[in-house]
Amino acid sequence: MILMRGYSDKGRRWHQEIDLDLAVTLVREQAAVVVNRRTIRRLYSNKDFRRYILTRDRYTCHFCGLYGDTIDHLLPRAKGGHTTPMNCVCACNLCNQAKADQYVDEFMGN
Ligand SMILES: [Zn+2]
Repeated sequence: MILMRGYSDKGRRWHQEIDLDLAVTLVREQAAVVVNRRTIRRLYSNKDFRRYILTRDRYTCHFCGLYGDTIDHLLPRAKGGHTTPMNCVCACNLCNQAKADQYVDEFMGN
């Protein structure tokens, strides 16, 4: 097991034990950094993460190009996707709800 540390939206420190596989994924997808062999640090609180994704994508929906202010998981959480910078994009409400738990190519092919 790997120890994951982070800060909450209110600045409170938390930590939890996670599987090595998950730790590797979170680091690879730029949600966390390696502290040492047994510890990673989560880079964003929930609020910071949301702000980071929306600002990075300039509040522009990944799917239709209109204004968006929600976060969509490219690989849905229900299908094993994680809340990481590489797996999350800005989406408008309509696209987010329409896509739901579909893969991106399913959604775009409709
Ligand atoms: Zn959209």
